Amino acid sequence: MRHHRLALCAEHFLDWFVSYTQRTIEEFHMFSSSDRLLVAVSGGKDSLALWDTLARLGYQADGLYIGLGIGGDEGYSAASQGKAQAFADAHGLTLHVVDIKKTYGESIPELARRTGRGRGKPCSVCGLVKRHVMNRVTLEGGYAALATGHNLDDEAAVLLQNTLRWQTGYLARQAPVLEATHPGLARKVKPFCRLYERETAAYALVRGIDYIYDECPHASGATTIFYKELLNRLEGHSPGTRHSFYLDFLRAKKKGQLLLPAEEEPDLHPCQQCGQPTTAPGLCAFCRLWA
Ligand code: SF4
Repeated sequence: MRHHRLALCAEHFLDWFVSYTQRTIEEFHMFSSSDRLLVAVSGGKDSLALWDTLARLGYQADGLYIGLGIGGDEGYSAASQGKAQAFADAHGLTLHVVDIKKTYGESIPELARRTGRGRGKPCSVCGLVKRHVMNRVTLEGGYAALATGHNLDDEAAVLLQNTLRWQTGYLARQAPVLEATHPGLARKVKPFCRLYERETAAYALVRGIDYIYDECPHASGATTIFYKELLNRLEGHSPGTRHSFYLDFLRAKKKGQLLLPAEEEPDLHPCQQCGQPTTAPGLCAFCRLWA
């Protein structure tokens, strides 16, 4: 790990990885040892590595798997759910499963087709539904926070995208902890935000975690992947670029050195149907989508 000037054997890499995650949790005041956490689990390497790490650190962490219905009975969703469930069973952990079709009547691809959203790609519908379900299950379960497996590569790609377009509102909100600004909103934390994707992959491999290797079939051509590739090229030319790009951004933001707009408190009120907070009059975007 050239950015840390560190080279470790498998055994010591695992120790370093777990303690580095704990240092990240403490540095950003993410949660304490008495908090109950919900981990968003997709069956991929990052989310399962995160669940594994939090369990090894002694945190009370349950998992949430959202069945999107992508790829039919033996496709991507079925395979990724199998990996998530097998991990939970092997480690004696609790996995909550929300199957979108069984719960709401249609799978994500069916919903995207019917509503004509996303020009053939179900990602915008999928993102909206996942955010709603994650928020609901976190609050209903009384969890202190929702933990997601976003890593440094994810965060740096979003940062690059927002910087190139000077999306100052998004830059102001990008952080390892998203506070619950309303009683109906869950607190969100990203304990892997300082870890490279290849580090989370190495951890999953060395720990023998059986995760789904395939990406969602709809991920190809995603803008974030393009920005990740750009950052990979920069990283190859100048190791540590991604690390300093993201962490120096967080430091400068903390010190008030960036001229970003003050975060405005949106005018939120309960959705007339589901009760989750929304800025829209009447129904929230999730309920309008199904309606
Ligand atoms: S790539 Fe798109 S459809 Fe697939 S899981 Fe991600 S957001 Fe959902």
